Amino acid sequence: MIKREVPNSFDLPRRIRRLADLAYNLWWVWNPEVPRLFKEINSILWDDCYHNPVVFLRKVDRARLNQLINDRYFLDKYDRTIHKFDSYMAETDTWYSRTYPDLKDELVAYFSFEFGLHESLMVYAGGLGILSGDHLKEASDLGIPLVAVGFLYTYGYFSQHITEDGWQEANNIPINFDDLPLVSLLDENSEPIRVSIDLPGRKLYARVYELQVGRVKLCLMHTNLVENDPKDRQLTDRLYISDLELRISQEFLLGIGGVRALRELGYAPTVFHMNEGHSAFLALERTREFMAQGLSLEDAQEKVSQTNIFTTHTPVSAGNDEFPLWLMDKYFAQFWPELGLSRDDFIDFAKVEQSWGGEAFSMPVLAMKLSNYRNGVSELHGEVARKMWSFLWPKLKVEDVPITHITNGIHTGTWLARRMGILFSRYLGSDWIEHIDNPDMWLQIENIPDVELWRVRRHLKRKLVVYMVGRARKQWLTTRVHPVQTVASGVLLDPYALTIGFARRFATYKRANLILRDYERLIRIVTNERMPVQIIFAGKAHPADEPGKLLIQEVYRAVKDARFGGRLVFLENYDMNMASYLVQGVDVWLNTPRRPREASGTSGEKAALNGTLNFSVLDGWWREGYNGKNGWAIGDDTERTDHDQQDEADAISLYETLENEIVPLYYKQRSADGLPAEWLACVKESIRTLAPQFSMQRMVKEYMTRLYQPALRVSKIEALEDSIEDATGEEV
Ligand SMILES: *Cc1c(COP(=O)(O)O)cnc(C)c1O
Repeated sequence: MIKREVPNSFDLPRRIRRLADLAYNLWWVWNPEVPRLFKEINSILWDDCYHNPVVFLRKVDRARLNQLINDRYFLDKYDRTIHKFDSYMAETDTWYSRTYPDLKDELVAYFSFEFGLHESLMVYAGGLGILSGDHLKEASDLGIPLVAVGFLYTYGYFSQHITEDGWQEANNIPINFDDLPLVSLLDENSEPIRVSIDLPGRKLYARVYELQVGRVKLCLMHTNLVENDPKDRQLTDRLYISDLELRISQEFLLGIGGVRALRELGYAPTVFHMNEGHSAFLALERTREFMAQGLSLEDAQEKVSQTNIFTTHTPVSAGNDEFPLWLMDKYFAQFWPELGLSRDDFIDFAKVEQSWGGEAFSMPVLAMKLSNYRNGVSELHGEVARKMWSFLWPKLKVEDVPITHITNGIHTGTWLARRMGILFSRYLGSDWIEHIDNPDMWLQIENIPDVELWRVRRHLKRKLVVYMVGRARKQWLTTRVHPVQTVASGVLLDPYALTIGFARRFATYKRANLILRDYERLIRIVTNERMPVQIIFAGKAHPADEPGKLLIQEVYRAVKDARFGGRLVFLENYDMNMASYLVQGVDVWLNTPRRPREASGTSGEKAALNGTLNFSVLDGWWREGYNGKNGWAIGDDTERTDHDQQDEADAISLYETLENEIVPLYYKQRSADGLPAEWLACVKESIRTLAPQFSMQRMVKEYMTRLYQPALRVSKIEALEDSIEDATGEEV
């Protein structure tokens, strides 16, 4: 029996003691009633503890709570919220239960290196993690039986500071686990649940915690335990460490330890989904398990493949996860005998030649070979992946390589501005959230009066400006920044000017500096007195990515240049909270990747949902979403091999579209009511066409119907055949 224990560290009045239950289930993240409750209790404290309900409830003043238990209006809201939460948790009539009544006892395991669920839980770095987090939330909403596995990092992802000369500094701040809504998992003797794996010359232990994401559970492993080697204690310190030996130990733990953790906790998933190759070792552990039950290697591999799903996110060979063979020898010498394999047969299974002539063990190859279901994350990325991995299927034509695509989406409840949600409830029907992936429902977007839509859009931009000024003021008050850094933080922004957002990881292929290519032309566009334009940049560079950091410096230099009049801004420390303000508050969302490097991208999908218009290279999701009327394209569908030529062509296209289409449309002579009717028509077209197609609801349903379902059925049929075989002694 597993005991689940939630530390009861809050001093809450009985009448509202269930605020603690809300704090310990991340359901609250996508149900804005809950943060509204917390804000009503004490909005300053809520902001001060960075929207972390565990810290909030620990710090909140008991006298204030005593006051509220006599406040009829507050109690009414509290009761309704608790009721909504309880109904959600107890609901048995879900999309899944209605669609797959025969699969109700099945379970899918979902593995990922990172999970982005909320800004107060820094166990994510960026897009991959947020996709995983959104996936869990939607699986919960749809009632899909899913359990997830990942890491609890000691430091989380770094916090970014930009010096006056534009250099990124990374600070690693340890996370206090008592501040997180972690559920302790204990065995019958009240000892913490641990798993162990064998590493060369030592045993590694990991403690397992649980996070509740609505109806879905996320198991997080952590190795900073006294019983571990000092070096192993650091294994779960950080995301994306460059040290290969630490990295292989991490991935050993994620894949092999992760499967053991699920077993330890009594889960019996039949289907395993590897989100990117970091968890691919799980395929080896599953093979070993089947062989321990008496299957031959071939049969075991067959069984594993039939029930494994692999999603690749990496469109360039160099970005893939690979280990040098000496490390594989060191870490797997004890493992291959368990599979009855020789060293060479084991290594050859996933061996790749590297561009410099060496050899390595490839995690995606391992994952591809031991999964019958494989996908890229957009249509174009699917094509690129088929080409990239076609060497694994030498007899097939490239278009027949068995890798499909499911385009990424976003979790609507998480990314939608509350005010926009109120509009949707009023004009799309109060149950609109149940039908997000239905394009017909979104036709009703036309019913929203322009005046109401425009009011919400203006409100969201003002909110963004207030947010930026508040941050700048705090920085000015508490740290010794140079005055120009305060200007760079956005204090000179105008809440009525056309505002462009560019926020993403600073990697060179994303070309944050493309818009700076013709510097003088940009100055003219930005400082046009009648039609000013402002640009907000944000994003982190990986600490080991020097060119990425130089790119930040180049952008920061422009931001500080007085000739832009303070209309260019760089916001430091991009995270999910800032992303919400930006995707909801700016008018135009800019994305300029070098094709086809942006496998999908999702921030533009968040923008579209909130009525922000996309202006992007036709790469990733936007190549599928753009219809000529719902935003703008940069460049066309041609790809040039020469980078400089491509950059030049794209930059020219960018400036021309900005000058001739976007800026005039925004400022166009407004009608008597003062509304930019044509701009708003474009906003409505964008929401109508993009919100359903690029929702997590559409995406997770697609994973379910196209990948999970067939895999679940195979395992069900096999289980049935096994039981008939057991009963009759005959092979079916
Ligand atoms: C959505 C999001 C991302 C991923 O979006 P991209 O379009 O891939 O850049 C990255 N970081 C944060 C904080 C996000 O919210």
